[in-house]
Amino acid sequence: AMGAQKIDGTAIAKSIREGLHDQIKKKQETSPRFKPALTIIQVGDRSDSSTYVRMKLKAAEEANIICELKKFPEDITEAELLEYIYTLNNNTTVHGILVQLPLPKHLSEHTVTSAVDAEKDVDGFGAINIGELAKRGGRPLFVPCTPQGVMRLLEESGVDLKGKNAVVLGRSDIVGSPVSYLLKNADATVTVCHSKTQNLEAIIKEADILVAAIGQPKFVKGEWLKPGAVVIDVGTNYIPDSSKKSGERLVGDVDYDSAVEVASLITPVPGGVGPMTVCMLLQNVVNSATRFYEQTAAR
Ligand code: NDP
Repeated sequence: AMGAQKIDGTAIAKSIREGLHDQIKKKQETSPRFKPALTIIQVGDRSDSSTYVRMKLKAAEEANIICELKKFPEDITEAELLEYIYTLNNNTTVHGILVQLPLPKHLSEHTVTSAVDAEKDVDGFGAINIGELAKRGGRPLFVPCTPQGVMRLLEESGVDLKGKNAVVLGRSDIVGSPVSYLLKNADATVTVCHSKTQNLEAIIKEADILVAAIGQPKFVKGEWLKPGAVVIDVGTNYIPDSSKKSGERLVGDVDYDSAVEVASLITPVPGGVGPMTVCMLLQNVVNSATRFYEQTAAR
């Protein structure tokens, strides 16, 4: 076998970030008032959340996006959190509001994410944006970042989706479901699989495009793939690895070594979908700021 071509998410993300930086700079030359701004809300101190938040803060800063982190103690009440979100909704200098998930159990993620004004919902998880995305001909203001990153990787790699069989593994609100809407809207024929799916291997065998987002290390084997398939691996799983200083290693939901022999295009983990997620968040913030700016400029 020739071996699949690797889709370099790190390089694609870098060029998108540089593009955003230039876009902001250029706009500020004629419109100094144009200052894209994001507020991230973190409740509690989960170390994985803190890592993601740090990545977002750093990337925003590099792109010249104002990014403020608002931290609340673990035991904040839902009413207090909602009150703060409403304040941000009414703050015209803030264009994006992101609530870092997961939230502590006593807070409803549904209630909290839906409190964010749809026009500032840069994660795209609120009911309005998800609903628009799911509707035929709907017009979401923001598309969730990881799914948008998946689509951008396909686009940048020149993958034709029209009429192709796309199989999505996973049906979460964060990845699987929105990816399936986007693929369907791009005229692929989409099959969504989950933990109750039967004959998974046979379904995967028919996939021209496979998007894996199940959180199961190296689950999909190369032998299951259709020769020439395009494989997008969203999974981020840490497995023990004594050769690493940290004692663990990051792997995807796809067994890369066997899949690379059968696929035509494949994303590595790390360096595939991961870097795209933050990048699409920044893009959403810039798009939001542009929309706010144009609305006020028109008055
Ligand atoms: P969830 O745990 O919310 O959802 C997992 C989905 O996979 C569920 O729909 C579940 O089915 C399904 N599933 C689990 N096991 C199997 C199986 N053996 N066979 C078929 N389907 C299965 O995960 P997320 O969607 O949040 O994340 C998925 C993966 O993507 C994780 O590894 C996560 O770390 C990663 N991720 C990566 C991001 C990035 O930026 N690169 C961003 C977000 C997530 P059911 O619905 O029946 O329970």
